[in-house]
Amino acid sequence: MKNELHTTKFRALPSVDRLLQCDYGAVIAAEYGSQIVTETLRNELKNCRELIKANPLEYKSFSDEKYILRKAENALENLHCSLLRPVFNLTGTVLHTNLGRAPLPQEAIDEVKAVMQGASNVEFNLSNGKRGDRDDLVESWLTRLTGTEAATVVNNNAAAVLLVLNSLARRKEVPVSRGELVEIGGSFRIPDVMARAGSKLVEVGTTNRTHLADFADAMSTKTGLIMKIHTSNYVVQGFTASVSDSDLSRLAREHDVPFVNDLGSGTLLDFSKYGLPKEQTAFEAIQAGADLITFSGDKLLGGPQCGIIAGKADLIKKIKRNALKRALRVDKLTLAALNAVLKLYGNPDTLAQKLPSLRLLSRSQKDIQKVAEDLAKSLQEYFSDSAVVSFSDCKSQIGSGAMPIDILPSCAVKISLASSSGKKLVLLAKAFRELPIPVVGRIHQDAFFLDIRCLEKEDEERFVGQIVQLNFRF
Ligand SMILES: *Cc1c(COP(=O)(O)O)cnc(C)c1O
Repeated sequence: MKNELHTTKFRALPSVDRLLQCDYGAVIAAEYGSQIVTETLRNELKNCRELIKANPLEYKSFSDEKYILRKAENALENLHCSLLRPVFNLTGTVLHTNLGRAPLPQEAIDEVKAVMQGASNVEFNLSNGKRGDRDDLVESWLTRLTGTEAATVVNNNAAAVLLVLNSLARRKEVPVSRGELVEIGGSFRIPDVMARAGSKLVEVGTTNRTHLADFADAMSTKTGLIMKIHTSNYVVQGFTASVSDSDLSRLAREHDVPFVNDLGSGTLLDFSKYGLPKEQTAFEAIQAGADLITFSGDKLLGGPQCGIIAGKADLIKKIKRNALKRALRVDKLTLAALNAVLKLYGNPDTLAQKLPSLRLLSRSQKDIQKVAEDLAKSLQEYFSDSAVVSFSDCKSQIGSGAMPIDILPSCAVKISLASSSGKKLVLLAKAFRELPIPVVGRIHQDAFFLDIRCLEKEDEERFVGQIVQLNFRF
């Protein structure tokens, strides 16, 4: 009996051809292409058959062409919507790795746009008409800003570290202080990267204290280089000791091996001028004796994702000859964006205005509070008495492992629900993430918490304008 019902219902299902031939089907096919529409319809019909099998009595509308076509259209719409979208980062972490790190300046957007539309001289020397080297496009700015002889650019800093180790210390030993064997965001662990590069890690000293004598003991004829790694997302505090750059550099020279300093964030200017904490700059690391430095392009530097290796010309030459360099190289868009950002560093007086990451990081609490006040007022009006919207002081983080502690005085908008249940807050956070420009905040102190540091005055209208679309029942 049940089987018979199946069969009758299966027979009532329209064929793919019939679906494609009706007006609605023809419109979808014209929009998305007949092949993908055919596949999608087949898939929807299969789903229908499974649903009928699971419950032959329940579903009645399967013979309805419109029903199936609508489902297919929805599936195609989902397939075609952009999965990578701009969001409002109101998490309080400015350089948020999961949210794409540094926003790029208009200058970089313009240069990227210009080269992405057609052919460019990415590896072509326009003066002699011969093959060029893509690193030449950014090398002069990089060497000038870091005080080095040569530089090369790869996919990210993880790639930079891997390439340096593989080029200079394959099948060799690399002494590293135990206090610096860090994990940076899950998949980048110094010991793992060493192993992948074919280098043998030699752990030196203890977690909190490492002395020059420990390094000296670790040196042998098998040593390929000495490496120092910025602890980035982690601080060693209290009873600590580490070896100075100049001591490591001297020891490396005595053993005729390079001293490599992985700076992580890699600042090109002293950002304490802009009210941020003091970090060793790339230039200072070189002055202190590093033969090579590596750092990210999209952390404190504020550029596109890439990894920069700079230092002694003979070492860079060796690194560029490694076949891995070809696999890790960056594309023309990255080079265009990086070059535009480096040029902004040429004028430190306008940098804080023109470089969005620095502008956001150095934004005053007063300025943030002004926007937070406005927003709190607009949101309160909209939510009326179903929520209490206020603003309060908070602390933002730089992010991307640059100083792992809350440090930047900021201001947040806090939305507290009248019926304060944790579940409702989770739903509210979800509704904000489902807005046309998703808003990413966090739940904190029984409220939905939006750090306004990364929402500038110009964005206010776009932010408030979409709130009417918030899909949330109080
Ligand atoms: C962030 C970081 C890396 C990895 O850089 P990516 O650009 O994210 O690949 C490597 N080393 C240190 C010390 C870092 O802080």
